[in-house]
Amino acid sequence: MLMKILEKCRKRSRLSKEEIVYLLSRTDKRQTEQIFAAAREARQSEFGNKVFLYGFVYFSTYCKNDCSFCYYRKDNENPPRYRKTLEEVVETAKELRESGIHLIDLTTGDDPYYTGHPKRLAQIVKEVKEATSLPVMVSPGVLDTEGLKLIRDAGADWYALYQETHRKSLFELLRLGQSYEERMFIKAYARDLGMLIEEGLLTGVGDTLDDRAHSFGEMGRLQASQLRTMTFIPQEGAPLEGDENPPFEDELMNIAVMRLLFPDALIPASLDVEGLEGLEKRLMAGANVVTSIIPPRKGYAGVASCEHDIDDGFRTVEGIQETLGRCRMEKATAGEYEKWVADRRKCRKTWSSIKCG
Ligand code: SF4
Repeated sequence: MLMKILEKCRKRSRLSKEEIVYLLSRTDKRQTEQIFAAAREARQSEFGNKVFLYGFVYFSTYCKNDCSFCYYRKDNENPPRYRKTLEEVVETAKELRESGIHLIDLTTGDDPYYTGHPKRLAQIVKEVKEATSLPVMVSPGVLDTEGLKLIRDAGADWYALYQETHRKSLFELLRLGQSYEERMFIKAYARDLGMLIEEGLLTGVGDTLDDRAHSFGEMGRLQASQLRTMTFIPQEGAPLEGDENPPFEDELMNIAVMRLLFPDALIPASLDVEGLEGLEKRLMAGANVVTSIIPPRKGYAGVASCEHDIDDGFRTVEGIQETLGRCRMEKATAGEYEKWVADRRKCRKTWSSIKCG
């Protein structure tokens, strides 16, 4: 059955939900390797051996929300709280550009200082864009429609807003007190404004195989251009602190199956889960973007692994080179990434995705 499903993927035929669940449920090493190899083949046919690198600037760790899985939730007194100045953000973005990254990912908690005053956010986007000439992703939490227009007009190419799960009952246990519909609406609105969307799944938090397959269908319907999946890591001071550390295999399988379903999407291998140590297996599962590259010793945090590998300089362009070489991948040029973004924004209606369910 596995070979038949992989052959359908090669032909880019629609998979049923049952077939997707079948892929996700493989645990035998020989079979998982076959799935990862098929995912790498799909990536190769769309992107060759090129990988895109994202610099991560987490410029405000304040948040008004209380997500049950998150270290930075409002009620947690443990995390460092900071709000970097405009000058600090621009300087960091310039430094990241010099190091060779392709995109600046400007992230905050859901901080009312910005979400309530989106002009402040737009000013940061504009100045980072002017200083670096790089594509910019903005991940500020839920904005209103006017706020979105402001950041788009300031030059934001991407809007990232993770649902974590598309099973509403689970969403309500994770994103406490937040509206599922509002989050989905504003992403679709950003897409219709011409921005690219990044959607994200958290795995290992009670999500079933069926939930994960359901999410892939929703991500396709959203026409998200970048699909992220990360493993839940229990966080000190959060309600799910006492949960067991889930294995990383489900995240790897999510990456591979998303690659098979959406061969032309960007799929990150995040350094924010296991640091540099986990990069190779994520690339070998079919990822084609390295995210959470952070300048060392500048006082910037990661999200899920807030300090891991940052000040050692392993989460840098230089720090990942050896791993890229082992995976026979190489950094794309800035022009290649910019062209991909421009083409994708122009040709949204022709995306070759949604082949599930
Ligand atoms: S996941 Fe985001 S919105 Fe939720 S508590 Fe953490 S920083 Fe805030």
